[in-house]
Amino acid sequence: MTTSPDIIAAGFDTLGLAQPLLKALADVGYETPSPIQAACIPVLLAGHDLLGEAQTGTGKTAAFALPLLQKIDLKRAVPQALILTPTRELAIQVAEALQKYAHHMPGFHVLPIYGGQSMVVQLRALSRGTHVIVGTPGRVMDHLERKSLVLNNLQTLVLDEADEMLRMGFIDDVKWILEHTPAERQTALFSATMPDVIRRVAREHLREPKEIKIRSATSTVVTTSQSYCQTHTGQKLEALTRILEVEDDFDAAIIFVRTKTATVELADKLEARGYSVAALNGDLTQGLREQVIERLKAGTIDIVVATDVAARGLDVARISHVINYDVPYDTEAYVHRIGRTGRAGRTGRAILFLAPREMYMLKLIERATKQKITALTMPTPGEVANRRVAQFTQQIVDIIKTEKLDFFFDVVRRMEGEQDIAAREIAAALAWLATRERPLQMPGANDHAPRDVAATPPAVSPAPTFVRDTERKPARASTKPPESHPDAEPRRERPVREGRSDTPVKQRSFAEGATMQRYRIEIGRNQGVLPKEIVGAIANEAGIAGKDIGQINLFEDYSSVELPANLSDDLMDILRRIRVRQFALKTRVMEAGEFVDTRPPRRAPPARDGKKPDWKKPDGAKPEWKTKRS
Ligand code: AMP
Repeated sequence: MTTSPDIIAAGFDTLGLAQPLLKALADVGYETPSPIQAACIPVLLAGHDLLGEAQTGTGKTAAFALPLLQKIDLKRAVPQALILTPTRELAIQVAEALQKYAHHMPGFHVLPIYGGQSMVVQLRALSRGTHVIVGTPGRVMDHLERKSLVLNNLQTLVLDEADEMLRMGFIDDVKWILEHTPAERQTALFSATMPDVIRRVAREHLREPKEIKIRSATSTVVTTSQSYCQTHTGQKLEALTRILEVEDDFDAAIIFVRTKTATVELADKLEARGYSVAALNGDLTQGLREQVIERLKAGTIDIVVATDVAARGLDVARISHVINYDVPYDTEAYVHRIGRTGRAGRTGRAILFLAPREMYMLKLIERATKQKITALTMPTPGEVANRRVAQFTQQIVDIIKTEKLDFFFDVVRRMEGEQDIAAREIAAALAWLATRERPLQMPGANDHAPRDVAATPPAVSPAPTFVRDTERKPARASTKPPESHPDAEPRRERPVREGRSDTPVKQRSFAEGATMQRYRIEIGRNQGVLPKEIVGAIANEAGIAGKDIGQINLFEDYSSVELPANLSDDLMDILRRIRVRQFALKTRVMEAGEFVDTRPPRRAPPARDGKKPDWKKPDGAKPEWKTKRS
């Protein structure tokens, strides 16, 4: 079976998924199933075995996760599904995804088990009972042999990235596990490629599997000029805004993201940076959708942030740029997207953002569009400054050409005479004044100083520094003063900065052995954060000593950090506002059960005085997220 290359328009509700899952999908903002999801979900729900050819990024995790979740009996905390992944990272990622999709399934538990994690921790977690196991083959085999993992009740077995497991030498372990699980299980095998060995495994261990493969177009000829920019998720927004500044012939852009939520979030962030922008997603009524398109045509907005489905059929001649902010599921979706530019005989420009693990898409798209996609590096602050200086210079040249300036010549002459200052100094001061709202320099621009500007030391008081976010106004900025934007942050009396502050922060002391609590912060792996940055920011900004900061766990878009329990309102307020990598932490106490059991192994405290480490909770209660440090 091969799916249609068109983006599937029908929603998740047509696939036979239960309400709690549909609700979770709405929460995460998925608008429509990706092609692999639309093809796989009904097949798996019907109980068939499946052989799916799909890469990372196609949405394959939800394709197998949703049907298996639908079959889970929550009342029985025994492993009912097993997902084998080649790596620890993928196991954690898949477990996180399952937890997200099971958000409205109370009591649901998923456990990742992988090599390198302490056996003691895993044995304890397994003995507590779980509905789904996500694991690497070697470690799963270990537990099966020890009988610490019993799969008598297994209904579903998923082999994820089977070709990777083969490449990493796990294939014999995989076969062993297949032989030691109930024969009547349902099996789904996903692989990016289908080498013979994998086909053989499928033949021997899958029962009349339905084959699903997303067909790739290979014949589309595209005239749009295409570039890509490799960037980590956490840097994408910065890269986007810099690229928008330095792109030639920019008129209007459509920026593609994957979810409804992301359309709104990104539109808000761009608006806060001064762009005139609107979100376009499936939640808009037809009337509102048309309004957005009319505003784009009329030039009252320059950027639309859209999902694939919402942008379908959009035909606005002034769209000069298509930005693939989130990578499309497949080459067809890409071709659909870039078809929104280069219309009415104009030339179009397409820019694709790719995380390192998404780079494989490049070759596929080049093949599908029969065109080379050139690399684009994130413009440096110096390049952005050069562009701003060039635009500013052009404005000055235009004014000299077109405006009557006699009165102003007199003003300058008088200043020169009365204040004894040179015209050059006056001009520099005026340039400072004119660009105060949108400074010509960015932080770090001195390292890559714009041509000509670097050569001349500032004649006036220090050049204004670039003010981030709400106060910057690009050339095509909206007319609204940035401060009026609802998201514009009011000036704080006590500025909270990233990293070290200028004024020493009061150090707080907590009692030895204070009860610890797990807090959630809104920055995670996708934003590229490192635990030491979190510790540094909390220590410097909130005055909490490193010894009072406990375990930190990074998840996709958030992290958890252990801090003393029952912090004062004042301190919580500071913790909420601390920024790391430009993201406000928005710190809050984690609810019981909110923490997924995906953290890396906790190291046992060293045995002291010959005593065994004490892993007991202070109150003997279950929640692991509240611990007492010894
Ligand atoms: P995967 O191929 O499973 O690794 O998924 C790639 C990314 O696509 C993940 O960040 C998912 O959250 C996201 N995703 C998966 N399905 C959808 C969907 N139907 N709509 C929007 N985003 C999705």
